[in-house]
Amino acid sequence: MPRIAVVGGGIAGAMLAWRLCEVIRGTAVHLFTGEPHRWADASAASGGLTRAFEPDPALCLEAADSLVELQASPVLREWASYRQTGSVYLLPALGSGTAGLVDLVHSRIPGSISVLTAAELGARGPFRGLPEGSVAVVEKRAGYVSPNGLRDRLLVELARSGAFVTDGQVDAVTRDGEVRPAGGSPVRFDAVVVAAGAWTQNLLARTGLVDGGLRTKVIQYVLGPSAGAGPSAFVDETSGLYGRAYAQGRVLLGLPTDRWDVTPGSVAADPALTTRILDVAESRIGYRPPRGKVRSVAAVECYHPTGGLSLRPLARGVYTFTGGSGGAGKTVLAASRTAARSLVRLLR
Ligand SMILES: Cc1cc2nc3c(=O)[nH]c(=O)nc-3n(C[C@H](O)[C@H](O)[C@H](O)COP(=O)(O)OP(=O)(O)OC[C@H]3O[C@@H](n4cnc5c(N)ncnc54)[C@H](O)[C@@H]3O)c2cc1C
Repeated sequence: MPRIAVVGGGIAGAMLAWRLCEVIRGTAVHLFTGEPHRWADASAASGGLTRAFEPDPALCLEAADSLVELQASPVLREWASYRQTGSVYLLPALGSGTAGLVDLVHSRIPGSISVLTAAELGARGPFRGLPEGSVAVVEKRAGYVSPNGLRDRLLVELARSGAFVTDGQVDAVTRDGEVRPAGGSPVRFDAVVVAAGAWTQNLLARTGLVDGGLRTKVIQYVLGPSAGAGPSAFVDETSGLYGRAYAQGRVLLGLPTDRWDVTPGSVAADPALTTRILDVAESRIGYRPPRGKVRSVAAVECYHPTGGLSLRPLARGVYTFTGGSGGAGKTVLAASRTAARSLVRLLR
């Protein structure tokens, strides 16, 4: 019986382990969750915005396929606490490939997607001051999930279904497939997948494994009281602002950061960025919360030069499944299915 280790209990590792149990019955799957990092990982902080449209064609396909699976599965919808709010993706202009991507989404989720001009979108509120020529890709069947809730539930289900779930750190992974758990004996596996998010680089470096260009970057958003019903999930490429309605009458709003190569774990939010987020939110959607009513959230994410989650070989039998690059919440269902199938083929 092949033995597979997945190192990392974020949404990527948990989902991959779950897929592996699904696609190769009789395989011993061992997941190391990496506590206590688990409480400060990207999956715990994720905004969970979920839609099908993405400007990158490969990611768009994965996001669309993930959303199709999510919407077809009452179980996954419940585990992920899916809320359908609709989504708006604002682009500075209609790019040459946009129509093709809209068609792709339409073929997967008929009737969900349409394209509006900035004026048409502005008439529906709350967006204002949009640059001339900008367009909005509007999706009805999109919204947000809780990657943290989904991960937690998967860990429970994995243990129930006979996978080995160990709540500890791995000290090292060797190039011949040995996993060295902290405080435990080394174990040799037929395949080891390192899905340790922003911690992956350091873990691989301990045994001289080359990570293929992974980097870390901070993602930061604010949570403030909602002014009314709150916006649907949105990304505004013309200003960088993104957001969605949040639980308990709050709203989540963020801007991209340029804080690269940061050590994961306890990362502090940048007060200057918080101010900038609120300024852009005021000018773009007319949102200005009362002073002192805003909480900033920051966490570190793993980026790969080619973007997106996929199974990447490092050495014979050793792989990574990381590099969500700020968007794996919406692609992880399809990406984990593809990765699990590839691994099965490779093990045969
Ligand atoms: C603030 C923020 C907001 C985001 N918002 C969105 C969004 O709205 N929509 C979207 O689609 N995506 C979003 N993302 C991206 C998405 O959440 C991430 O791509 C995804 O959660 C990454 O999951 P992961 O499992 O790769 O990494 P992580 O969630 O970071 O998990 C890595 C895991 O590895 C474990 N680990 C670390 N070291 C070890 C070790 N030595 N041994 C064993 N285990 C170890 C840790 O315990 C951790 O659980 C956001 C990300 C952030 C940070």
